[in-house]
Amino acid sequence: MDEVAASTAASVDVANPREAVRWRARRAFLMAWCLPATTATRTQHVSLKSAFGVHVLTALLVTLLVIILVNVPDSLANRTQIAHYVVAIEQDLISLWEELAQNWFFHSFLFVMTVLSIEAAFGLLALAIAPWGARDEPMRASLRQAFKTVWLQSAQALVVVLLVGGLGAVLETMERSWDASYEIPEPPTLVLPTKAAPGTPEYQEWQKAMDEYHAERGEWWWANYLAKPWYLRDRELFVVISGFVSALWVIWALLRAVGAPRDVSVLPRPPTCEWCGYNLTTIAMEGRCPECGESVASSLGPGVRSGTMWQRRKDIGRIRAWWPCTLEAISRPTRFGRQLRITPAGTDHRRFLAVHLPFAFLIGLAFVSALALIVGQSPGRGSFAGDIVLPTILFGCAVLAAMVAISLVSACIIGLYFRITERRNLLAPSAQAACYLATYMTLWTAFAVAEFVMIILHQQNRFLYNVADWIGVDGDLLGLAIWFVPNIALFIGYLTLIARITASTRYSNS
Ligand SMILES: [Zn+2]
Repeated sequence: MDEVAASTAASVDVANPREAVRWRARRAFLMAWCLPATTATRTQHVSLKSAFGVHVLTALLVTLLVIILVNVPDSLANRTQIAHYVVAIEQDLISLWEELAQNWFFHSFLFVMTVLSIEAAFGLLALAIAPWGARDEPMRASLRQAFKTVWLQSAQALVVVLLVGGLGAVLETMERSWDASYEIPEPPTLVLPTKAAPGTPEYQEWQKAMDEYHAERGEWWWANYLAKPWYLRDRELFVVISGFVSALWVIWALLRAVGAPRDVSVLPRPPTCEWCGYNLTTIAMEGRCPECGESVASSLGPGVRSGTMWQRRKDIGRIRAWWPCTLEAISRPTRFGRQLRITPAGTDHRRFLAVHLPFAFLIGLAFVSALALIVGQSPGRGSFAGDIVLPTILFGCAVLAAMVAISLVSACIIGLYFRITERRNLLAPSAQAACYLATYMTLWTAFAVAEFVMIILHQQNRFLYNVADWIGVDGDLLGLAIWFVPNIALFIGYLTLIARITASTRYSNS
């Protein structure tokens, strides 16, 4: 009996090695953040309910973790014993409960609204990533996969909160103990004399003393700031950076997980005319479609939907594959769409998008540098890292993330549109279309950024305000309109191109 079981297991192993190892939903807590794709393939069998369970448990654990981390600096700086620390956390939980119990109706309403808006945000996130992992399957299967991914991967929040919050708590603790050992004491705060009412000489005197106190305290703060070690000087900066890096990591992991290979049962479909959707079941291969007259071979022949030029880049070279692919997707979208399969053979389209991302990052860098040149640096006492390097890197990453987000959301909009009009799930081809239009998206991003810089430049030299006065409108509003109108037009153009490419796949046989 055991032998039979062992041989069956072995045959499953050979037939589908990915299916062989199955993880329970709770393994997501350990593995989701470091091995998102493996977690996704090994939890394929997990039900939506279990995935939601992981999600809810994560929310509870994150709340607890935040309370624990918030109490760390107080406890450590005062060298509190662990027992006091536990009592502090307990007190927090009790006061939270008492607050809830006091105005029960209002707080439960607030609680429900907060939970609902958080869940709505997760729902929108699932919708946005659905095209990335969609296959030739019913729409609900694509959405189910997306929701399962978002809920299971939400376990990553624990790691993110632990890393970012932990770093913040440790640095704050270190700063407090450093401040305590700093030899120059902070100037004492002044108390308003009891006799001093506004208008009296005492009050004026007090105000003068207050001004002196503020100046003195400013000097003290600055000396304190300079004396600190570098990692405490820009403490918040490190927390912001770690938060940002974590966010990028989470987005990447989500896409890896939703796009991971999975078993999809083939939908039974009759052989269909690729041009008009006519059922070709009884028509010979040499014949023509009775509805539109196109040859049957052009729908069912061996050369149909052979893939894009980019998919042949290994033979013809990257640049020589990239250019015709880009050109055709933009100038002849309908023809380009005839090359795509509903379920893509590999991850080539994602790689096509990925090679454009460094350019998006550079556009972000150029934007901040240009703005710094135009606006000039403020004479504040900020650091070089905080004022120049950080915003530049953060904005570069933000542009990159925005480009991916707009691609995904556009693919989702077009996919839903075709689900309604054609009653077929075309999320997978719309995602491919959005990826293959990455050059359009990069040029659009460069245009949007350059236009923004030009508007700021013409606001600085008052030209825009003079024009606005002449027309009789608000100057800032005019700048905003000049920026928005062409960008909305470019967005509509992007959506139209995705729709036209996707439309070419609506009767696809493969
Ligand atoms: Zn036809």
